[in-house]
Amino acid sequence: MMAELSRIVLAKGREKALMNRHPWIYSGAVARVIGDAVPGDMVDVVDAGGAWWARGYYNPNSKIRVRVLTWEQGQAIDRAFLRQQLAASIARRERMVSGDTNAYRLVYAESDGLPGLIVDRYADWVVLQSLTMGMDGLKQEIAEMLMEMLSPRGIYERSDADIRPQEGLGPVVGVLAGEIPPERIEVHENGLRFYVDILNGHKTGFYLDQRMSRETVGSYCAGGDVLNVFAYTGGFSVYAARAGAAHISHLDSSANALDLAAENMVLNGFEPGERLEGDAFKLLRTLRDQNKRYDVVVLDPPKFAFSKAQVQSATRGYKDINMSAMHLLKPGGILATFSCSGAVDALLFQKVVFGAGIDSGRELRVLQELRQGPDHPVFLPFPQGAYLKGLLCLVE
Ligand code: SAH
Repeated sequence: MMAELSRIVLAKGREKALMNRHPWIYSGAVARVIGDAVPGDMVDVVDAGGAWWARGYYNPNSKIRVRVLTWEQGQAIDRAFLRQQLAASIARRERMVSGDTNAYRLVYAESDGLPGLIVDRYADWVVLQSLTMGMDGLKQEIAEMLMEMLSPRGIYERSDADIRPQEGLGPVVGVLAGEIPPERIEVHENGLRFYVDILNGHKTGFYLDQRMSRETVGSYCAGGDVLNVFAYTGGFSVYAARAGAAHISHLDSSANALDLAAENMVLNGFEPGERLEGDAFKLLRTLRDQNKRYDVVVLDPPKFAFSKAQVQSATRGYKDINMSAMHLLKPGGILATFSCSGAVDALLFQKVVFGAGIDSGRELRVLQELRQGPDHPVFLPFPQGAYLKGLLCLVE
């Protein structure tokens, strides 16, 4: 006999979001808790009249009190349920990933019905990231299931994302199952080869969300001088080289990332490219002072806004680097500019780029809007899943 779950009683009328299948219940929507639920426990969610709505996991230390796992009454959150959700996520990827690619996202958290869980595949290895208290409690079981389902050499945990403190959690990294991965794994992406450091690299090791955009931006690089700003391990650079760019510069503040960028170029049979190490805000001005000009500039900065409160300062940052990039472009050049701040939406980002165009005296035309790839799908009731946006602009 299963013990009764604690019940989270919603304030009057606050079941609306659940009706629309939004998986988050904020603290303000909760009227009271019946039972002795502790952080991470499964709970049932009922409305003010006592009617059952959903089941999920609870964290009183987070502004997001409950994250919903099921809207099916009577559905147990057991092994069979988790296995079914994982299998569905993995099956979805069969249509999202094609060609010679063996590094991509297998589970994208809320968007795949598994709140707080990221699972990425890197060739024969799997990296798991848990973002929440509730998922921390399920991750070991999930890792065992993934070993059975995917037979990777090992599953490495990279639960060191910047949002864990919002759940009252510290960083956790280490082997969850199988072998200890080497410092460097070789993966294939659209037929190109990349070394990825899943132990120490950013996120789970690689910016898998830019796979499609790297291909798109690459197609504008033939014969050109390309400046890849915030280059990390050279993703956009290697695609530019394959497309036949004449000269490629990688700019980043991380020496390790730049080392790997040069190695990734060589791994694919290209020249290592020019290394520009330093702060982009300053270096872009220096390049301008040196009268450097480029045919293509890629701007893929880290997250500038971690919350709504930081949106204003983030937009100033975006405007600054975008103006600098525009000054560095030859007439008719291409700017591929991105923002991965979820709090800055696509419309606001477009306004910022527009403002940078006006202030730098350049005429801009958007040739294409860019987004995170399909292995990072956006579940429509959960628009928060859309965070990466970009504009491919012709700059005259
Ligand atoms: N475009 C890359 C991902 C970029 S991630 C890809 O496709 O893989 C953002 C990068 O910006 C990181 O490598 C980080 O080291 C770098 N970075 C962060 N702040 C910076 C700054 N102020 N100046 C230069 N680089 C910076």
